[in-house]
Amino acid sequence: MTSQNPVFIPGPTNIPDRLRHAMNAQTLDHRAPDNVDVLAPMLEDLKSVFKTTTGRVITFPASGTGGWEAAITNTLSPGDKVLVARYGMFSHRWIDMCERHKLDVEIIETPWGEGAPADLFAERLAADASHEIKAVLVTHNETATGVVSDIAAVRGAMNASDHPALLFVDCVSSLASMPFEMDAWGVDIAVTGSQKGFMLMTGMAILGVSERAWAAMETAQCARTFFDFRDMEAANANGGYPYTPPVQLLLGLRECVAMLFDEGLDNVFARHARLAEGVRRAVSAWGFELCAARRELYSDTVSATYVPEGFDSNVLTNHAYDAYGMSFGVGLGPMNGKAFRIGHLGSLTESMALSGIATIEMAMKDLDYPIELGAGVAAAQEFYRAQKAVELKKAA
Ligand SMILES: *Cc1c(COP(=O)(O)O)cnc(C)c1O
Repeated sequence: MTSQNPVFIPGPTNIPDRLRHAMNAQTLDHRAPDNVDVLAPMLEDLKSVFKTTTGRVITFPASGTGGWEAAITNTLSPGDKVLVARYGMFSHRWIDMCERHKLDVEIIETPWGEGAPADLFAERLAADASHEIKAVLVTHNETATGVVSDIAAVRGAMNASDHPALLFVDCVSSLASMPFEMDAWGVDIAVTGSQKGFMLMTGMAILGVSERAWAAMETAQCARTFFDFRDMEAANANGGYPYTPPVQLLLGLRECVAMLFDEGLDNVFARHARLAEGVRRAVSAWGFELCAARRELYSDTVSATYVPEGFDSNVLTNHAYDAYGMSFGVGLGPMNGKAFRIGHLGSLTESMALSGIATIEMAMKDLDYPIELGAGVAAAQEFYRAQKAVELKKAA
Protein backbone atom coordinates (compact mmCIF):
# COMPACT_ATOMS: atom_id res chain seq x y z
CA MET A 1 0.00 0.00 0.00
CA THR A 2 1.57 3.29 -1.05
CA SER A 3 -0.82 5.47 0.96
CA GLN A 4 -0.90 8.03 -1.84
CA ASN A 5 -4.69 8.08 -1.84
CA PRO A 6 -6.50 11.12 -0.51
CA VAL A 7 -8.66 10.57 2.56
CA PHE A 8 -12.39 11.15 2.33
CA ILE A 9 -12.99 11.36 6.04
CA PRO A 10 -14.32 14.73 7.21
CA GLY A 11 -11.16 15.55 9.11
CA PRO A 12 -8.32 15.27 9.58
CA THR A 13 -8.06 16.33 5.95
CA ASN A 14 -5.36 15.92 3.31
CA ILE A 15 -2.29 18.01 4.07
CA PRO A 16 -1.01 19.90 1.01
CA ASP A 17 2.73 19.55 0.35
CA ARG A 18 3.16 23.28 0.86
CA LEU A 19 1.94 22.92 4.44
CA ARG A 20 3.85 19.72 5.16
CA HIS A 21 7.03 21.46 4.09
CA ALA A 22 6.20 24.50 6.20
CA MET A 23 5.85 22.26 9.25
CA ASN A 24 9.07 20.36 8.56
CA ALA A 25 11.24 22.63 10.66
CA GLN A 26 13.91 22.07 13.28
CA THR A 27 13.15 23.07 16.82
CA LEU A 28 12.82 26.80 17.22
CA ASP A 29 13.32 28.66 20.46
CA HIS A 30 9.81 29.60 21.49
CA ARG A 31 11.18 32.27 23.77
CA ALA A 32 13.29 33.91 21.09
CA PRO A 33 12.63 37.65 20.92
CA ASP A 34 11.59 37.56 17.26
CA ASN A 35 8.83 34.98 17.81
CA VAL A 36 6.35 37.79 18.14
CA ASP A 37 7.02 38.54 14.46
CA VAL A 38 5.60 35.12 13.59
CA LEU A 39 2.71 35.10 16.00
CA ALA A 40 1.28 38.62 15.87
CA PRO A 41 0.73 38.90 12.09
CA MET A 42 -0.66 35.37 12.00
CA LEU A 43 -3.23 36.08 14.71
CA GLU A 44 -4.17 39.26 12.86
CA ASP A 45 -4.58 37.40 9.55
CA LEU A 46 -6.70 34.74 11.21
CA LYS A 47 -9.22 37.46 12.05
CA SER A 48 -9.88 37.81 8.32
CA VAL A 49 -10.61 34.10 8.13
CA PHE A 50 -13.16 34.38 10.97
CA LYS A 51 -14.41 37.62 9.34
CA THR A 52 -13.99 39.65 12.47
CA THR A 53 -12.42 43.05 12.98
CA THR A 54 -13.62 43.58 16.55
CA GLY A 55 -12.84 40.13 17.97
CA ARG A 56 -9.57 38.48 18.97
CA VAL A 57 -8.07 35.19 17.94
CA ILE A 58 -6.83 32.80 20.61
CA THR A 59 -5.03 29.53 19.91
CA PHE A 60 -4.31 26.56 22.17
CA PRO A 61 -2.40 23.33 21.74
CA ALA A 62 -5.51 21.14 21.68
CA SER A 63 -8.09 19.83 19.26
CA GLY A 64 -11.50 21.31 18.54
CA THR A 65 -12.86 19.70 21.71
CA GLY A 66 -10.38 21.74 23.75
CA GLY A 67 -11.73 24.82 22.00
CA TRP A 68 -15.24 23.96 23.22
CA GLU A 69 -13.90 23.68 26.75
CA ALA A 70 -12.07 26.99 26.47
CA ALA A 71 -15.25 28.70 25.25
CA ILE A 72 -17.40 27.59 28.15
CA THR A 73 -14.88 27.73 31.00
CA ASN A 74 -13.71 31.26 30.21
CA THR A 75 -17.18 32.74 30.09
CA LEU A 76 -19.60 30.76 32.27
CA SER A 77 -20.10 29.65 35.86
CA PRO A 78 -21.37 26.32 37.19
CA GLY A 79 -25.16 26.44 37.28
CA ASP A 80 -25.41 28.88 34.40
CA LYS A 81 -28.12 27.99 31.93
CA VAL A 82 -27.20 27.37 28.32
CA LEU A 83 -29.56 26.67 25.45
CA VAL A 84 -28.56 24.15 22.83
CA ALA A 85 -30.14 21.85 20.25
CA ARG A 86 -29.00 18.28 19.77
CA TYR A 87 -29.03 17.12 16.13
CA GLY A 88 -25.92 15.02 15.72
CA MET A 89 -22.89 13.54 17.40
CA PHE A 90 -20.96 16.81 17.69
CA SER A 91 -23.76 18.87 19.17
CA HIS A 92 -24.31 15.89 21.50
CA ARG A 93 -20.69 15.85 22.65
CA TRP A 94 -20.66 19.61 23.34
CA ILE A 95 -23.82 19.14 25.43
CA ASP A 96 -22.14 16.33 27.35
CA MET A 97 -19.17 18.58 28.07
CA CYS A 98 -21.44 21.37 29.37
CA GLU A 99 -23.14 18.90 31.70
CA ARG A 100 -19.80 17.70 33.04
CA HIS A 101 -18.91 21.32 33.79
CA LYS A 102 -22.15 21.50 35.82
CA LEU A 103 -23.88 23.93 33.53
CA ASP A 104 -27.67 23.83 33.46
CA VAL A 105 -28.22 22.63 29.92
CA GLU A 106 -31.58 23.22 28.27
CA ILE A 107 -31.66 20.87 25.32
CA ILE A 108 -33.94 21.08 22.31
CA GLU A 109 -34.04 17.57 20.88
CA THR A 110 -33.99 17.93 17.11
CA PRO A 111 -34.14 15.15 14.50
CA TRP A 112 -30.74 14.21 13.07
CA GLY A 113 -30.75 15.59 9.53
CA GLU A 114 -32.20 18.90 10.65
CA GLY A 115 -30.23 21.96 11.71
CA ALA A 116 -30.41 24.44 14.58
CA PRO A 117 -34.11 25.29 15.08
CA ALA A 118 -33.99 29.11 15.10
CA ASP A 119 -37.76 29.36 15.58
CA LEU A 120 -37.68 27.21 18.73
CA PHE A 121 -34.68 29.16 20.02
CA ALA A 122 -36.70 32.35 19.47
CA GLU A 123 -39.58 30.93 21.56
CA ARG A 124 -37.35 29.85 24.44
CA LEU A 125 -35.44 33.11 24.49
CA ALA A 126 -38.60 35.21 24.34
CA ALA A 127 -39.98 33.22 27.30
CA ASP A 128 -36.78 33.80 29.28
CA ALA A 129 -37.69 37.29 30.51
CA SER A 130 -35.31 37.12 33.48
CA HIS A 131 -32.38 36.25 31.19
CA GLU A 132 -31.44 33.00 32.91
CA ILE A 133 -29.96 31.74 29.65
CA LYS A 134 -26.34 32.89 29.52
CA ALA A 135 -25.30 31.34 26.25
CA VAL A 136 -26.72 29.73 23.12
CA LEU A 137 -24.53 27.00 21.63
CA VAL A 138 -24.77 26.05 17.97
CA THR A 139 -22.86 23.58 15.84
CA HIS A 140 -22.59 25.37 12.48
CA ASN A 141 -21.76 22.31 10.43
CA GLU A 142 -22.87 19.03 12.04
CA THR A 143 -20.21 16.70 10.69
CA ALA A 144 -22.17 13.58 11.72
CA THR A 145 -25.12 14.36 9.47
CA GLY A 146 -23.72 16.73 6.84
CA VAL A 147 -26.04 19.54 7.88
CA VAL A 148 -25.21 23.24 7.91
CA SER A 149 -27.21 25.52 10.18
CA ASP A 150 -28.24 29.11 9.59
CA ILE A 151 -26.30 31.07 12.21
CA ALA A 152 -27.70 34.42 11.04
CA ALA A 153 -31.18 33.06 11.77
CA VAL A 154 -30.12 32.05 15.30
CA ARG A 155 -28.71 35.54 15.86
CA GLY A 156 -32.01 36.91 14.52
CA ALA A 157 -33.88 34.76 17.06
CA MET A 158 -31.75 36.22 19.85
CA ASN A 159 -32.17 39.78 18.64
CA ALA A 160 -35.93 39.36 18.29
CA SER A 161 -36.25 39.34 22.08
CA ASP A 162 -33.18 41.51 22.67
CA HIS A 163 -31.74 38.59 24.59
CA PRO A 164 -28.27 39.26 26.02
CA ALA A 165 -27.06 35.62 25.94
CA LEU A 166 -23.70 34.95 24.30
CA LEU A 167 -23.68 33.05 21.02
CA PHE A 168 -21.07 30.26 20.79
CA VAL A 169 -20.60 28.51 17.48
CA ASP A 170 -18.70 25.33 16.67
CA CYS A 171 -17.29 25.99 13.19
CA VAL A 172 -14.75 23.15 13.36
CA SER A 173 -15.80 21.62 10.03
CA SER A 174 -16.91 24.81 8.29
CA LEU A 175 -14.37 27.59 8.89
CA ALA A 176 -12.05 28.17 5.94
CA SER A 177 -14.24 25.90 3.77
CA MET A 178 -17.70 27.46 3.89
CA PRO A 179 -18.79 31.08 4.40
CA PHE A 180 -18.53 32.11 8.04
CA GLU A 181 -19.20 35.64 9.28
CA MET A 182 -18.26 36.09 12.90
CA ASP A 183 -19.05 39.80 13.15
CA ALA A 184 -22.02 39.92 10.80
CA TRP A 185 -23.67 36.99 12.59
CA GLY A 186 -22.88 38.39 16.02
CA VAL A 187 -20.94 35.30 17.08
CA ASP A 188 -19.31 35.69 20.50
CA ILE A 189 -17.04 32.68 20.35
CA ALA A 190 -16.26 30.68 17.23
CA VAL A 191 -14.37 27.42 17.76
CA THR A 192 -12.33 25.48 15.25
CA GLY A 193 -9.29 23.20 15.02
CA SER A 194 -6.23 22.90 12.82
CA GLN A 195 -7.07 19.64 11.02
CA LYS A 196 -10.12 20.43 8.90
CA GLY A 197 -10.44 23.56 6.74
CA PHE A 198 -6.94 24.61 7.78
CA MET A 199 -5.57 21.36 6.28
CA LEU A 200 -2.95 20.85 8.99
CA MET A 201 -2.21 18.07 11.42
CA THR A 202 -4.42 17.87 14.50
CA GLY A 203 -3.14 19.75 17.51
CA MET A 204 -4.51 23.26 17.71
CA ALA A 205 -7.77 24.79 18.82
CA ILE A 206 -8.36 28.17 17.20
CA LEU A 207 -11.00 30.52 18.57
CA GLY A 208 -12.46 33.85 17.59
CA VAL A 209 -13.55 35.72 20.73
CA SER A 210 -15.77 38.82 20.78
CA GLU A 211 -15.36 41.72 23.20
CA ARG A 212 -18.55 40.66 24.99
CA ALA A 213 -17.23 37.15 25.53
CA TRP A 214 -13.95 38.63 26.72
CA ALA A 215 -15.78 40.78 29.24
CA ALA A 216 -17.67 37.72 30.54
CA MET A 217 -14.35 36.41 31.91
CA GLU A 218 -14.57 38.99 34.68
CA THR A 219 -17.34 37.05 36.40
CA ALA A 220 -17.02 33.53 34.98
CA GLN A 221 -16.41 31.04 37.80
CA CYS A 222 -15.70 27.84 35.87
CA ALA A 223 -12.23 26.58 36.72
CA ARG A 224 -9.66 27.06 33.99
CA THR A 225 -5.88 27.13 33.88
CA PHE A 226 -4.51 25.62 30.66
CA PHE A 227 -7.31 27.24 28.64
CA ASP A 228 -7.30 30.69 30.24
CA PHE A 229 -7.78 33.31 27.51
CA ARG A 230 -6.05 36.08 29.45
CA ASP A 231 -2.96 34.03 30.21
CA MET A 232 -2.71 33.18 26.54
CA GLU A 233 -3.18 36.73 25.35
CA ALA A 234 -0.59 38.07 27.78
CA ALA A 235 1.95 35.47 26.65
CA ASN A 236 1.12 36.05 22.97
CA ALA A 237 1.94 39.72 23.37
CA ASN A 238 5.57 38.67 23.88
CA GLY A 239 5.50 36.11 21.10
CA GLY A 240 4.97 33.10 23.35
CA TYR A 241 2.46 30.82 25.00
CA PRO A 242 2.00 30.38 28.76
CA TYR A 243 3.64 26.98 28.10
CA THR A 244 5.52 25.42 25.20
CA PRO A 245 3.76 26.17 21.91
CA PRO A 246 3.56 23.65 19.03
CA VAL A 247 5.99 25.73 16.98
CA GLN A 248 5.91 23.61 13.82
CA LEU A 249 2.14 23.69 13.82
CA LEU A 250 2.21 27.47 14.18
CA LEU A 251 4.50 27.67 11.16
CA GLY A 252 1.99 25.51 9.31
CA LEU A 253 -0.87 27.71 10.35
CA ARG A 254 0.94 30.82 9.18
CA GLU A 255 1.56 29.20 5.80
CA CYS A 256 -2.02 27.97 5.62
CA VAL A 257 -3.42 31.45 6.02
CA ALA A 258 -1.14 32.62 3.19
CA MET A 259 -2.37 29.71 1.09
CA LEU A 260 -6.02 30.53 1.74
CA PHE A 261 -5.42 34.16 0.83
CA ASP A 262 -3.54 33.16 -2.34
CA GLU A 263 -6.54 31.16 -3.53
CA GLY A 264 -8.94 33.77 -2.13
CA LEU A 265 -11.47 32.81 0.54
CA ASP A 266 -14.39 33.24 -1.85
CA ASN A 267 -12.72 30.90 -4.32
CA VAL A 268 -12.10 28.40 -1.52
CA PHE A 269 -15.81 28.49 -0.67
CA ALA A 270 -16.81 28.20 -4.34
CA ARG A 271 -14.51 25.19 -4.80
CA HIS A 272 -16.04 23.45 -1.81
CA ALA A 273 -19.56 24.17 -3.08
CA ARG A 274 -18.62 22.73 -6.47
CA LEU A 275 -16.94 19.61 -5.08
CA ALA A 276 -19.88 19.00 -2.76
CA GLU A 277 -22.50 19.29 -5.49
CA GLY A 278 -20.61 16.78 -7.62
CA VAL A 279 -20.59 14.32 -4.73
CA ARG A 280 -24.31 14.89 -4.15
CA ARG A 281 -25.02 14.24 -7.85
CA ALA A 282 -23.18 10.94 -7.48
CA VAL A 283 -25.19 10.01 -4.39
CA SER A 284 -28.36 10.80 -6.23
CA ALA A 285 -27.25 8.76 -9.27
CA TRP A 286 -26.81 5.77 -6.95
CA GLY A 287 -30.34 6.34 -5.73
CA PHE A 288 -29.18 6.84 -2.12
CA GLU A 289 -30.50 9.33 0.37
CA LEU A 290 -28.59 12.00 2.18
CA CYS A 291 -29.13 12.36 5.90
CA ALA A 292 -29.58 16.13 5.48
CA ALA A 293 -33.30 16.70 5.20
CA ARG A 294 -33.40 19.51 2.62
CA ARG A 295 -31.24 21.24 0.06
CA GLU A 296 -30.67 24.38 2.15
CA LEU A 297 -29.22 22.16 4.89
CA TYR A 298 -26.67 20.45 2.63
CA SER A 299 -23.13 20.84 3.89
CA ASP A 300 -20.40 21.69 1.42
CA THR A 301 -17.75 19.90 3.48
CA VAL A 302 -19.30 16.50 4.25
CA SER A 303 -22.12 14.37 2.89
CA ALA A 304 -23.67 11.70 5.12
CA THR A 305 -25.38 9.09 3.00
CA TYR A 306 -27.68 6.24 3.96
CA VAL A 307 -26.94 2.90 2.33
CA PRO A 308 -29.83 0.78 1.01
CA GLU A 309 -31.81 -1.37 3.45
CA GLY A 310 -30.08 -4.66 4.23
CA PHE A 311 -26.53 -3.35 3.75
CA ASP A 312 -24.06 -2.53 6.52
CA SER A 313 -22.20 0.72 5.86
CA ASN A 314 -19.33 -0.37 8.12
CA VAL A 315 -18.70 -3.38 5.90
CA LEU A 316 -18.56 -0.96 2.97
CA THR A 317 -16.11 1.51 4.52
CA ASN A 318 -13.94 -1.34 5.82
CA HIS A 319 -13.88 -2.96 2.39
CA ALA A 320 -12.98 0.33 0.68
CA TYR A 321 -10.10 0.64 3.11
CA ASP A 322 -8.89 -2.97 2.96
CA ALA A 323 -9.27 -3.50 -0.76
CA TYR A 324 -8.50 -0.07 -2.19
CA GLY A 325 -6.70 1.78 0.58
CA MET A 326 -9.20 4.58 0.74
CA SER A 327 -10.86 5.97 3.86
CA PHE A 328 -14.40 7.22 4.15
CA GLY A 329 -16.18 8.36 7.31
CA VAL A 330 -18.33 5.87 9.19
CA GLY A 331 -21.82 6.66 10.38
CA LEU A 332 -21.76 8.05 13.91
CA GLY A 333 -24.08 7.21 16.81
CA PRO A 334 -27.47 5.92 15.66
CA MET A 335 -26.31 6.21 12.04
CA ASN A 336 -23.53 3.68 12.57
CA GLY A 337 -23.94 0.79 10.13
CA LYS A 338 -26.70 2.64 8.28
CA ALA A 339 -24.79 5.50 6.70
CA PHE A 340 -21.31 6.50 5.68
CA ARG A 341 -19.81 9.93 5.19
CA ILE A 342 -17.84 11.39 2.33
CA GLY A 343 -15.65 14.22 3.53
CA HIS A 344 -15.00 16.75 0.78
CA LEU A 345 -13.13 19.52 2.48
CA GLY A 346 -9.69 20.99 2.59
CA SER A 347 -7.05 20.22 0.01
CA LEU A 348 -9.17 18.62 -2.70
CA THR A 349 -9.71 19.00 -6.44
CA GLU A 350 -12.41 17.71 -8.78
CA SER A 351 -10.12 14.92 -9.95
CA MET A 352 -9.44 13.85 -6.39
CA ALA A 353 -13.16 13.88 -5.61
CA LEU A 354 -13.80 11.70 -8.67
CA SER A 355 -11.25 9.17 -7.40
CA GLY A 356 -13.21 8.90 -4.17
CA ILE A 357 -16.52 8.47 -5.94
CA ALA A 358 -15.02 5.87 -8.30
CA THR A 359 -13.46 3.93 -5.45
CA ILE A 360 -16.53 3.74 -3.26
CA GLU A 361 -18.44 2.61 -6.34
CA MET A 362 -16.01 -0.27 -6.83
CA ALA A 363 -16.37 -1.20 -3.17
CA MET A 364 -20.16 -1.08 -3.47
CA LYS A 365 -20.15 -3.20 -6.60
CA ASP A 366 -17.91 -5.76 -4.88
CA LEU A 367 -20.52 -6.00 -2.16
CA ASP A 368 -23.42 -6.34 -4.61
CA TYR A 369 -24.96 -2.94 -3.98
CA PRO A 370 -27.73 -2.20 -6.48
CA ILE A 371 -25.73 0.42 -8.35
CA GLU A 372 -24.37 0.71 -11.83
CA LEU A 373 -20.62 1.01 -11.99
CA GLY A 374 -19.71 4.50 -13.14
CA ALA A 375 -23.14 6.03 -12.57
CA GLY A 376 -22.01 8.31 -9.75
CA VAL A 377 -18.72 9.13 -11.44
CA ALA A 378 -20.51 10.12 -14.64
CA ALA A 379 -22.99 12.34 -12.79
CA ALA A 380 -20.17 14.12 -10.99
CA GLN A 381 -18.09 14.37 -14.17
CA GLU A 382 -20.99 15.99 -16.01
CA PHE A 383 -21.39 18.52 -13.24
CA TYR A 384 -17.69 19.31 -12.95
CA ARG A 385 -17.36 19.65 -16.73
CA ALA A 386 -20.32 22.00 -16.93
CA GLN A 387 -18.92 24.12 -14.12
CA LYS A 388 -15.53 24.29 -15.80
CA ALA A 389 -17.16 25.30 -19.09
CA VAL A 390 -18.90 28.20 -17.35
CA GLU A 391 -15.64 29.23 -15.73
CA LEU A 392 -13.69 29.07 -19.01
CA LYS A 393 -16.37 31.09 -20.77
CA LYS A 394 -16.20 33.76 -18.08
CA ALA A 395 -12.41 33.91 -18.39
CA ALA A 396 -12.52 34.19 -22.20
C1 LIG B 1 -14.10 17.44 14.21
C2 LIG B 1 -15.15 18.18 14.93
C3 LIG B 1 -15.05 18.53 16.29
C4 LIG B 1 -14.01 18.14 17.23
O1 LIG B 1 -12.90 17.94 16.93
P1 LIG B 1 -11.60 17.38 17.59
O2 LIG B 1 -10.63 18.22 16.90
O3 LIG B 1 -11.61 15.96 17.23
O4 LIG B 1 -11.64 17.62 19.05
C5 LIG B 1 -16.05 19.29 16.83
N1 LIG B 1 -17.09 19.69 16.11
C6 LIG B 1 -17.24 19.38 14.83
C7 LIG B 1 -18.42 19.87 14.11
C8 LIG B 1 -16.27 18.61 14.20
O5 LIG B 1 -16.43 18.31 12.90
